[in-house]
Amino acid sequence: MTKALSTSIFAFAAAAVAAPAMADEVNVYSYRQPELIKPLTDAFTEETGIKVNVAYLKKGMVERLQAEGDRSPADLVLTVDISRLNAVVEAGVTQPVISDVIAANVPEAYRDPEGHWFGLTTRARIVYASKDRVAEGEVTTYEDLADPKWEGRICTRSGTHAYNVALTSAVIEHHGEAEAKTWLEGVKNNLARKPQGNDRAQVKAIWAGECDLAVGNTYYMGKMLKDTEQQAWADSVNIVFPTFEDGGTHVNISGIALTKAAPNKENAIKMMEFLTGSKAQEVYASANFEYPIAPGMEADPLVQSWGEFTADDVNLMTLAGHRAEALKLVEEVDFDG
Ligand code: FE
Repeated sequence: MTKALSTSIFAFAAAAVAAPAMADEVNVYSYRQPELIKPLTDAFTEETGIKVNVAYLKKGMVERLQAEGDRSPADLVLTVDISRLNAVVEAGVTQPVISDVIAANVPEAYRDPEGHWFGLTTRARIVYASKDRVAEGEVTTYEDLADPKWEGRICTRSGTHAYNVALTSAVIEHHGEAEAKTWLEGVKNNLARKPQGNDRAQVKAIWAGECDLAVGNTYYMGKMLKDTEQQAWADSVNIVFPTFEDGGTHVNISGIALTKAAPNKENAIKMMEFLTGSKAQEVYASANFEYPIAPGMEADPLVQSWGEFTADDVNLMTLAGHRAEALKLVEEVDFDG
């Protein structure tokens, strides 16, 4: 039945625009990793018969889409972080999607009002705290991270990484630029070492006794627990969901956008609908330990075991809007230096 629907939509599209006959396929540019995307694309192909071709990119997605222009083979882009999604939209290489299915699956807070980008999952940026050296309740807010009591005890990745830029953007939104700079300076003064490595490397450093607190995304806890080498790192920490003093826990998204050139637009929209639907949302939850975005979907039991939190209600586009300011502050305080 689904297959018949897809064929009829395709026939309609072909007739309407006299497009050349195309294979039943969809092309994706992805910053997200094959281990996560493959199970999703396999499930989509199984359900619809539409083949998915994925180009896994490390960088330069916007530049590539711009260079390819109308002749780009890409239909969809998959990435994490609101600023990266916003950058693709601002480059003018996306088009809006209007879909009742997606609108029902993705809460308004997690999609572009104009329909240029849609969240697929959420993740919180939280604190990993040493089980041995940090007592319960010792750190409860993001503001706490700048408290001198943590001097020489915090580890984090680069301040210029998208995850940390988004967090700093949230600090700017809550406290203004001047206070955000003071906060960044405070956190920098508390670092045990120069920012380096990825989020998991910070937890490893706690395990190794180099620091007591680390900033990282929630799903890495699940990934570490599933890895024989990294399990010990995960076991050495507790998860703390900090809040802003006047807000909730900082959350970011992974998301998707339809390209302006999209040669397989109908198939692409079907895939967007699929990825926001329950089957794919469950894969995101169980394979990558992210929070499903669709209402009524539950996180993986392991993820639920870490506790509940209230997402900060700062608008994602507002966060993206503070990106340049946040990066400027990171440089001004020489956070990575
Ligand atoms: Fe990540």
